[in-house]
Amino acid sequence: MEEIKGALAKYNFAFKKKWGQNFLDDPNLLDAIVRDAGVDSETTALEIGAGAGALTRALSKHAKKVVAYEIDRTLEPVLAETLAACDNVEVVFRDFLREDMARLEAELGGYVAVANLPYYVTTPVMMRFLEEAKMCRGVTVMVQEEVALRLCAREDTPEYGAITAAVALKGTAHITRKVPRAMFTPRPNVDSAVVKVTFGGGVAVKSENAYRFAVRTAFSSRRKTLENNLMGAAGIGREEAKEVLRAAGVPEGARGETLSPAAFACLADILYERGMVK
Ligand code: SAM
Repeated sequence: MEEIKGALAKYNFAFKKKWGQNFLDDPNLLDAIVRDAGVDSETTALEIGAGAGALTRALSKHAKKVVAYEIDRTLEPVLAETLAACDNVEVVFRDFLREDMARLEAELGGYVAVANLPYYVTTPVMMRFLEEAKMCRGVTVMVQEEVALRLCAREDTPEYGAITAAVALKGTAHITRKVPRAMFTPRPNVDSAVVKVTFGGGVAVKSENAYRFAVRTAFSSRRKTLENNLMGAAGIGREEAKEVLRAAGVPEGARGETLSPAAFACLADILYERGMVK
C-alpha cells in the first residue's frame, strides 16, 4: 500500500469530493471484499471507480480478468504505476453511467460487479445493474451504511423503499461487513457497509416493466395511500384502483411500504393481465 500512497504523492493527486473520492488502503479489508464477492480464477470482475487501484489490485490477484472504470483522468499516471504488474486489468477512463451497457456486457460475458462506490452515484449505478444488466451474476459494493440498510430492508420498515423492491426482483441482498469511516482516506462523515446482491431467484413476475411501474407508483409519495398513488398513474381511475387493489388482496388504506416484494409482484401481474401496464 506504500506504493499507492507514493504514487498519489508523486503525481500531487488532489482528492475530489465531487467524484466521491474516499480511498481504501487496508489490504485485509480489500481481500475480504474480494472474498465476499466470490471472485475466483474463472471470474471476470467489473469495477466502478478504480481510484488509485487498491481494490483493483486485490481483484487482479484472484480474478481471471478485471475491467475497471474511472472517471478522473488525473489518476491515469497513478494507475499506470500502481497497476503496472497487473496484466489481467483493463482500465477504462470513462463515466460508467454513460457507458452503453449492452455493448459492455457483450465484451465482458458473464461477470460480477465489485466496487467501493462513489457515494454521489450509488443509486444510479445500482439501478443500472438492477434494471439494465443481463449478464451480471452479482454486485458486491461498499456503500454508506444507511444505503446498505435500505438495500437489505424488510417491508413495513422506514428503510424499505423502491430500491429494496428493485433488488428483490433480481435476487437477494445481505450485508457482509460493516466498515468504519476511519478506514477511508480522506475520512467521510458516515460509516459504510459492504452489501452483496446475488442475482437469481428474485420474485417471479409476468412483466418486469409492470413490477417497476407498481413499485415506482407505490413510492411516488410515501405519505399517500397506495390507492391514491395508483390513481392518475397510467390513466387509472379511483374505482379501477380500488378494484385492482382488492384483486391483489391489498387492504384498503394500505401504503406502498407495507407491500412485500411478492405482493408487488401480485399487483404487477394484475395490472399487466388487465392491460393497464405493458
Ligand atoms: N476503488 C478505489 C478504492 O476503493 O480505494 C476508489 C473508490 S472511490 C470511493 C470512487 C472512485 O470512483 C473515485 O476514484 C472516483 O473518481 C470514481 N468515479 C466517480 N464517479 C464515477 C463514474 N461515474 N464513473 C467511473 N468512475 C467514477
